[in-house]
Amino acid sequence: MNLRSDNHVAALLAAEFGLSGAIERLDGENDNFRVTDEDGATHVLKLADDSLSSDVIMLECLATEAAIAGNTGIELPRFVRTTSGAIEAVHRTDGGTVLRGRLLEFVGGTPWCESGAVRSGQLRDLGRKLAQLDSCLATIDPPQARRTHRWDLTAVQQHRSKIALVEDRERRRLLEDCYHLYCACALPVLQTLPHSVIHQDLSDENIMVVDGRVSGFLDFGDCLYGPVVCELAVTLAYVLLDETLALKDGAEVVAGCHEVRALSSAELEVLFPLICGRWSNTVCVAAERRGVDPDRDAWYVHEERAWKAIERYASVSPEDARRALEQHIDNTEAHGATFKELVETRAGRISDALSLSYHEPLKIVRGSNQYLYDWKGRPFLDLVNNVCHVGHCHPHVVAAGQKQMAKLNTNTRYLYDGLTDYAQRLCATLPSELEVCFFVNSGSEANELALRLARAHTGRKDLLVVDGAYHGHTTTLTEISPYKFMGSGGTGRAEPWVHVVPMPDGYRGPHKGHGRETGVAYGDEVLRVIERAERPICGFITESFLSCGGQIIPPEGYLETAFAHVHNAGGVCIVDEVQVGFGRAGTHFWAFEQQNVVPDIVVMGKPIGNGHPMAAVVTTLAIADSFADIGMEFFSTFGGNPVSCAIGMAVLDVIENEGLQQHALEVGTRLLDGVRQLMGRQSLIGDVRGTGLFIGIELVRDRETLEPADTEAEQLINGLRQRGVLTSTDGPFHNVIKIKPPMVLTADDVDMFVRCIDDELTH
Ligand code: PMP
Repeated sequence: MNLRSDNHVAALLAAEFGLSGAIERLDGENDNFRVTDEDGATHVLKLADDSLSSDVIMLECLATEAAIAGNTGIELPRFVRTTSGAIEAVHRTDGGTVLRGRLLEFVGGTPWCESGAVRSGQLRDLGRKLAQLDSCLATIDPPQARRTHRWDLTAVQQHRSKIALVEDRERRRLLEDCYHLYCACALPVLQTLPHSVIHQDLSDENIMVVDGRVSGFLDFGDCLYGPVVCELAVTLAYVLLDETLALKDGAEVVAGCHEVRALSSAELEVLFPLICGRWSNTVCVAAERRGVDPDRDAWYVHEERAWKAIERYASVSPEDARRALEQHIDNTEAHGATFKELVETRAGRISDALSLSYHEPLKIVRGSNQYLYDWKGRPFLDLVNNVCHVGHCHPHVVAAGQKQMAKLNTNTRYLYDGLTDYAQRLCATLPSELEVCFFVNSGSEANELALRLARAHTGRKDLLVVDGAYHGHTTTLTEISPYKFMGSGGTGRAEPWVHVVPMPDGYRGPHKGHGRETGVAYGDEVLRVIERAERPICGFITESFLSCGGQIIPPEGYLETAFAHVHNAGGVCIVDEVQVGFGRAGTHFWAFEQQNVVPDIVVMGKPIGNGHPMAAVVTTLAIADSFADIGMEFFSTFGGNPVSCAIGMAVLDVIENEGLQQHALEVGTRLLDGVRQLMGRQSLIGDVRGTGLFIGIELVRDRETLEPADTEAEQLINGLRQRGVLTSTDGPFHNVIKIKPPMVLTADDVDMFVRCIDDELTH
């Protein structure tokens, strides 16, 4: 017997509300009954299941009463108290079952979804009425409203992993896009938007219509304290399920809402991402529920229409959607030249030697945290930019720069605290032998200076460089960078004083392997080259991990062995930490520390200023003295200026305050594990290597021959770019996917990346 049978309902109604009449079960997810008494008056009895707390029922009642008190003319389901004055009846049946029920006044009209073609003025009216409802709800702030639930539009990401439950690959791709948009464009700003109690479920089933006018709102059960704009977004998500309506119709709802409560541009910007978020929520919850009870139709009423909406709007850019939705509101901010104009002007004014990334280049107009946003409002997860180390436009770094710029910017010929404070702080991150700093403006300048220091100290010129290495764009650095002189347009090694040693590559090369013996064998290659050189060597320059060389982590013992040989030969060891420093390695602040060595000169760039042009060289007192003793002055106009020092200091603050080194280790390990797990079914993935957030994925056509899969790598990064994920390729065979994102990358981003690679490689 159904424990919630009409008889039990009748008994509850009689005992607790003194009500009798005809009882009719209503369609829908919940146990709701329409009760019509002898006088023809109708009510709705809602039975609560065990999961519904009395706090939530209290919230529902308070919200409904606040809305009624606003006298807006909207019909609302007023709570009828029990004969003893309670808002909920707790009734024990003869069989001992406890039923909990609340009785609401019946709200007449036809639900929006059944009310037929939308009439003129109906959409604007809906916008006004939902805003009026919110102004009533804003008058209360009950503690019970500070909650979340599975339909909370600020927590849609809770369902993100359910994307994997969707069987259709194309639908998975679209859903990834929706989530990406929501997570990158809505989530980061929601907390900053105006909040109040909101209904949060003005769906097409909960909006009642009479004669083409919105007459009532039902079901305050999802009510919570949240960003007010979520109300509008939820409603728009349902209105737009109607395939006869378009964004221009949605704009009517927006305009109506705006008449009652002015929407800020920040609120307008998140609307479309939030709408996509609600559709994502609907289809993910449905996908999950299919595993529980595929036959419960009431769970899937919106599912297929939400998928259709996701498909319909997939090709609409967020920017076009925003403009369409706010077409009756003056909020348009121009984003400069169109894409086509820019490409044309650039072609005439910027050298062709400077290439653009991706088959379809990007016009990026904004950055925040781990995201970049193009001029169409599309977000991109940035897995490439190791310059914006602590996140694009980090507010602490931006503020530090702005503050100092407004106060003073001079040069290092004056005394100022910023320079010495920063030098002290930077040195504190290094082994104590490295104690004298030089500040310049780019990695290239820093490497140039490092070479001068080495030459000054040794009185020699011959230099060992690692195959595949890149150290900068100046004349000398091009001459010492095999990446350039052996790469496209290069004419081979031109300078007899440049000596190339093999890459310490554990995956390929003469000594492939992973143990210490591999590292030592590669280290001994350095000795061989020293012995072959005609003159005594000045030194050895290497990145601590090889970046342009293909994201290679040298095997253990490599730098120890190589440095010992260099030192024995009277040379100095320079490590280029331009790409790999500042905690990216995860285990250590400086990547060379993993190799248990102390270099003589450390070169820093890229992340040091989070995008502000600055770089540094730090060396020993002895080397710095040799350089000074020559008597030639060193001065860089901009190097180490007060603004740069303030910014450098702020970057160190953030790395420390946000625990980014440890974070890089955790998130990087998750990424390595995630991609390694794909190796079982994705045969193109030959090697996954890295440490912290410095990772390479090497693609090969054959795991035995290691034939490089360069075109496939190119295809993969372009495919990922279409999915809103930015990566690049590198390495001598252009077959290594480079991953070196801002260090604020999250576990959620990693999971998305892994799913995207998997889908891109599955054909
Ligand atoms: N060293 C390494 C390892 C680099 O990757 C780069 C830049 N890609 C440089 C030096 C040169 O730095 P910059 O472009 O700032 O001159």
